Amino acid sequence: MNSGEITCPYCWQTISIEELSPSSENVELVMDCEVCCRPIRVTAYWPDGDTGEPVYEVEPES
Ligand SMILES: [Zn+2]
Repeated sequence: MNSGEITCPYCWQTISIEELSPSSENVELVMDCEVCCRPIRVTAYWPDGDTGEPVYEVEPES
């Protein structure tokens, strides 16, 4: 399945991210780190269109 992992930009722990439906457009969401509980802005995109695995970019939400 497409559930993935991201690295928290605050505490650098690896945390799992919910499965996202492939989209031709970027998907942005904000989730709280399950380790340090700070909010992370996640941008997901699919470089191979709607068939490949998503790529996640993370940045602090301030
Ligand atoms: Zn964290």
